[in-house]
Amino acid sequence: MLCLSDSIRHDDPCVQQLLSTIEEAQTLAQLILAVWPLARVLALHIVEYVLAERAQRPSAWPPCPTCGVPLRSKGFAQRQLMALFGPIRWRRRVGRCPHGCAIPQVAPFDEALGVQPHQRTSGALQCLGCAFAVFVPFATAARLLGWYCGSLVSPRAVWCWVQAAGRHAMALLQEELEAVARGDAPPPETLAAELAAWPLALGADGVMVPFRPTGGAPTGNIRWRDIKVGVLARLGQHRTRLGHVVTRLQHRRLVAVLGDIEALSPRLWSEAVRQGIVHAPHVVWLSDGGRGLWRLFEERFAGHARGMLDFYHAVQQLWKGAAAWLDGRTTQARRWCGWARHRLRHGMPDGVLADLADA
Ligand SMILES: [Zn+2]
Repeated sequence: MLCLSDSIRHDDPCVQQLLSTIEEAQTLAQLILAVWPLARVLALHIVEYVLAERAQRPSAWPPCPTCGVPLRSKGFAQRQLMALFGPIRWRRRVGRCPHGCAIPQVAPFDEALGVQPHQRTSGALQCLGCAFAVFVPFATAARLLGWYCGSLVSPRAVWCWVQAAGRHAMALLQEELEAVARGDAPPPETLAAELAAWPLALGADGVMVPFRPTGGAPTGNIRWRDIKVGVLARLGQHRTRLGHVVTRLQHRRLVAVLGDIEALSPRLWSEAVRQGIVHAPHVVWLSDGGRGLWRLFEERFAGHARGMLDFYHAVQQLWKGAAAWLDGRTTQARRWCGWARHRLRHGMPDGVLADLADA
């Protein structure tokens, strides 16, 4: 640390204030908070150093999109981009058409870096902003990002990143659905051997989700809409501190769509293939008694999975059946359901479960 601080002191006097703040810090919390701005400055210096060095290398100039003549360098120009640890600046060659065609200036170095012409923030910062925006409002996400990167981030910027990420994700999904329609399955996700050996469980259901009545505006009464959800997980075994072995859902994946079961079907199938439905040692389809979901099971999954009615829906269906059978006499129905519940817990032939599914 002493060597590092000495070399920093000599190389860059502007960080001396940051170093003295670190030396004055008493508690661990103060120390960590004091180190963070220095870590940001050091990261910026390293990145800017590497960029400056690479920008000196010769550029390969593409042809002008209008006249086809190779573009020509007009010298170095500055570029800035907000990254996770603050604004990065670098100078790189920019080129124009020697014939004066009306095209925007071209920077091959930016292209090699994967930086888009009008991009002002790094992909990593945008990713973090989108992740925050899943859980908190845009203004809060912008504030959190500002704390993290040490600069101001506007809520509007976070909103735009989320929109762009959403459009990108929908385009990828569309490609995937078209591939499923052609019969092309996505490649399975790479799993650790232990995970791959566990049974795969999947199921689907419909849930009501509150929506804003008009997109982009927070006003108006909530509108509840039906979302179809599919869940996929590996049934892992976990030993508790008391030595009991319990089942835990591992490697959980979720598929959801604002639409009907027909819309869910290719999405869930695609994810099931990615999660290894074709090669998993055991596959279980768990669902309530809804006819549509069992039709989905028959059409897509029956060749690979064993269908099971989930316990709580089985009991619910039993109750309905018993109450109807006993002509509304709920005391007898309760007694009968208690017996049936016991049988369900302690094993019941498959045929009964299948009958319940039809109930
Ligand atoms: Zn030209």
